[in-house]
Amino acid sequence: MKPIQNTNEAGHPAQVRTVLITGASRGIGAAIARRFSAEGYQVALNYCSSAACAEKLAAELNTRQGRAAVFQADVSRQDQVQGMVEAVLQTFGSIDVLVNNAGIAQQKMFQDITEAEWQRMFDVNVKGMFHCCQAVLPDMLRRKEGKIVNLSSMWGMVGASCEVHYSAAKAAVLGLTKALAKELGPSRIQVNCVAPGLISTDMNKALDEEAMAAILDETPLGCVGAPSDIASAVWYLASDQAGFTTGQVLSPNGGLVI
Ligand code: NAP
Repeated sequence: MKPIQNTNEAGHPAQVRTVLITGASRGIGAAIARRFSAEGYQVALNYCSSAACAEKLAAELNTRQGRAAVFQADVSRQDQVQGMVEAVLQTFGSIDVLVNNAGIAQQKMFQDITEAEWQRMFDVNVKGMFHCCQAVLPDMLRRKEGKIVNLSSMWGMVGASCEVHYSAAKAAVLGLTKALAKELGPSRIQVNCVAPGLISTDMNKALDEEAMAAILDETPLGCVGAPSDIASAVWYLASDQAGFTTGQVLSPNGGLVI
């Protein structure tokens, strides 16, 4: 698959931009992929285990005259991330935007969390971002441009009972975002964060009706968010509209956390 060229406003050939989205097979990641594709981006869809979902989404985007391809990698594995990024660069020519969306969650009493569960939570949600950022940066630094958007959670901002390891990992994402934004600002690379509230995806399937009702009761807007709400926030931070914004956290959460 060769990178495609459009013409810019002046009529000159303009390289179409490419976004790499981790965890794009389902939920919020799939919504982000649809949004970037609709905005004219070439879309690199990372998945870990849901190959069929990722392939189906790529086919959907390609049918709509977009340009999308799938790339398998477990983000917790540095070798797999490196191979994925090399494959994306070969396919699309550049990575202009990295969206670190891949994540896992678990509801469990703190005393019952095993060391392996704690480790996996951090390996996927935090170390995965470390791997992906390190892998895309040589190309971004060489070009002195690029945008990175990381997915945290409102629970990373305020903590959630029975999700201590998830909350701690998502809080680490806030620190990673702010520190990396300072380090990369002089290289014209922006790093920002979206910290969603409760969004209707597979991740929340385990929440029982009572827990869901309690959260909705505390949410001023009185509803859960849609994956497209988060895609809009990610799109804004990656767009030229946010040219002076870096190291920031945008939290679409219905007003639950202010
Ligand atoms: P989801 O529906 O459970 O989807 C998770 C995605 O992450 C899937 O595409 C999955 O890929 C991918 N993934 C998991 N482990 C991976 C790994 N090791 N390597 C690569 N990909 C991996 O979750 P979601 O609700 O869309 O959440 C997306 C992000 O938003 C997460 O970071 C989550 O913490 C954050 N978030 C979600 C909510 C919410 O209410 N849903 C709220 C706040 C923050 P495969 O299926 O291919 O394995």
